[in-house]
Amino acid sequence: MDPTIPPAILFGLARDILRNEMGKRIEQRRSVGRDTPEGARLTKEISTLVDLGKDLDEATAKQIIAAGRAAVDSKLMPPKMARVDAAEIREHHPRLLADDAQVWVGAGWRGILDEALAAVKDRDVLVRVAREHCAGLHLIIGPKADWLETDFDVAAEVTERTWSRSLQVCETCGCPSAEGPWSRYRTRCAEHGEVR
Ligand SMILES: [Zn+2]
Repeated sequence: MDPTIPPAILFGLARDILRNEMGKRIEQRRSVGRDTPEGARLTKEISTLVDLGKDLDEATAKQIIAAGRAAVDSKLMPPKMARVDAAEIREHHPRLLADDAQVWVGAGWRGILDEALAAVKDRDVLVRVAREHCAGLHLIIGPKADWLETDFDVAAEVTERTWSRSLQVCETCGCPSAEGPWSRYRTRCAEHGEVR
């Protein structure tokens, strides 16, 4: 960075980069919807960018310009993937989850999980496992005592439908999934390919 660059220009350039980043996120938010998990995440990022622009000092401005997008992105490092709160699921479905049930599901699959649980809630079954496995949402549903044929059929159908639906939806944000080098290992949209 040229040390003689006048501060006014420096700040102007840095703010342009910030504005550009903000614009992109506002556009993304428009397409995913403000009330989705992804929309909420974008809102947070936008307000971080606004704050960054407000308290812009010379060193930060230089960093933003020198590194371009990278500096902005590092301020916004995506957190680890948010996961469904197992305790909350248990609270909502006290008799449906086995005491030692495994629940390990990204927040993007929350709707799929809720639908699956709702579909078996009046059956004589226990959900033993609800977790990501081989890129999909893997459920193991067992009988409370002996299988009733109708319960078995419903459980099998829900397990299969949940699995195939989860492969269409980003586990991180709930948007439609995309193809990428990661696709065999995890189901993600293009933006969250690397989020674990
Ligand atoms: Zn995503």
